[in-house]
Amino acid sequence: MAGETSSLTLFSHAHGRERREERGIEKRALQAAVKYGVREPANPGRAGDQRWRFTHEGVVFITDVTCKHEITSWKLNDGAVNLAAADGVGGAHIVLVVDHSASMRKADVPNYETRTAAVYDCLARDFVEAQLAAGACGSDVVVTLIEMSDEAHVVIDKARLDAGLAAALKARGGSYARSHGNYLPALDKALEILQDDAHNRGTLMLLFLSDGAPSDHVSRSCPHGFPVWTAAPGNLKTRRGKPMLIECSISPRQCRKSTQEAVGVDCVQKVLRSATSSAATASPSARWPLATRTSTTRCCSRWARHSRAAPFRSSS
Ligand SMILES: [Zn+2]
Repeated sequence: MAGETSSLTLFSHAHGRERREERGIEKRALQAAVKYGVREPANPGRAGDQRWRFTHEGVVFITDVTCKHEITSWKLNDGAVNLAAADGVGGAHIVLVVDHSASMRKADVPNYETRTAAVYDCLARDFVEAQLAAGACGSDVVVTLIEMSDEAHVVIDKARLDAGLAAALKARGGSYARSHGNYLPALDKALEILQDDAHNRGTLMLLFLSDGAPSDHVSRSCPHGFPVWTAAPGNLKTRRGKPMLIECSISPRQCRKSTQEAVGVDCVQKVLRSATSSAATASPSARWPLATRTSTTRCCSRWARHSRAAPFRSSS
């Protein structure tokens, strides 16, 4: 059997081979996909050339029309997203939420003046340019950018995914981040935009990039009514030089902790509620919130630590 599979002729080319090596896919798996996998028409190439898509044992493999030339391949369960391969009518709408709070001005990412410069350069290269290289088409894929500080600001509204968008994102790398990073208004805005568009998109995606936990608790009071994250009167400092905060007289430590934790719970519930209602109105093939979950964690954990990290891997 293995002999038969490997005897199947399959021509590899540099691009397909590189993607396959990146994703740990053996050439034998591709030969097996052609021989035993499910064959469907794939999205055509840029020049309109017909392609085939084979799915077999968790691997998707795209060939040319003759099934003999390897174009690209990816594993179904590795969390990578390929917008070019997005199923469904209407293409995709991606909302980017980027933290624009004061901590983003820190200069701790090698080769970048600020974290802001790093995140926007990563988005331009590893998201926009990577998806374009993978064949994502500008007219089918739109991107909205929200910057998150005290409030949420829509900076780019449903722009086409193209080289102009990459340039616009890189230009935002020079912007001045300030104040707090409040997750809840940013999530409200992002989810409202995605929900409004859910009925005519095949793929909805939220990429949420932040260097820290939410700041929303700063303006909240504990269950006993004390604003436990507000600075105490008199400009008093702790031993570490931080502002002394107002204390709850009932349960000082626990109330500060629980006020902060409640914000995290609110954020998660917001996303889950929105995903449920979007799924009800979206087209049947809509993919949501899968991309939200996988891409968000990857972005948040990687980009701030590596100068050329890949927060977003395309599936081409
Ligand atoms: Zn309390």
